[in-house]
Amino acid sequence: MNLSKRLARVADFVPINARLADIGSDHAYLPVALMLEEKIEFAVAGEVVKGPFESARKNVALNGLSEKITVRLASGLAAIEPQDEINTITICGMGGTLIAEILAAGDPNKARLILQPNVAGENVRTWLNQNNYKIIAEDILEENEKIYEIIVAECGEQKLSEKEIEFGPFLLQEKNKIFIKKYEHEIIKNERVLANLKNVKNIEKIKQFENQIKKIREIL
Ligand code: SAM
Repeated sequence: MNLSKRLARVADFVPINARLADIGSDHAYLPVALMLEEKIEFAVAGEVVKGPFESARKNVALNGLSEKITVRLASGLAAIEPQDEINTITICGMGGTLIAEILAAGDPNKARLILQPNVAGENVRTWLNQNNYKIIAEDILEENEKIYEIIVAECGEQKLSEKEIEFGPFLLQEKNKIFIKKYEHEIIKNERVLANLKNVKNIEKIKQFENQIKKIREIL
């Protein structure tokens, strides 16, 4: 089964023989692909919406994997049961605010977290920073003209600076060409908003956008 470039990159961070919970597992693409490659031992595919839950169940059955992948209709980490002995959790393709809410509402129980926020990665990093999770790797990639971040974390002490929370400690260090592209685009977007604000003379907002542009220019 061919995964999208985004999910294939997420799959690269799943350890061999992991017991995986994929939360928000529309079609269960990720656990099915990993199981077909015999890379994981067991998986739970958790979905809160009936339609995607049925699609996940169908895809798992179609691939003859119903014994090895349990599909559960549940919100967030409530899909995981103690006997699953989950040691790796993926939460992908959602906003960073929702990912942080899912983590806050449940107990990841020291599992490795592989998180792929579509937007607001800073909210994910804030949660990790406050909940004894240490970022061990990050990635940024482009697919179909969209830019995605991946954040991998394990239990451990870490105190990130404000800048690291906003831009990502590893992404900031590497500053690869996708990272540069993302933030050059952010500057253009912010400058457009700023021009409009100057027309309506909204002083407070003008300051806010000027500071944001300055902050981005400093890291590029
Ligand atoms: N993870 C897949 C991916 O990255 O391609 C699917 C992403 S899809 C855009 C997001 C999925 O998360 C939807 O199927 C949605 O129903 C599900 N979802 C949203 N909130 C959830 C929650 N609290 N618990 C479980 N699933 C959730």
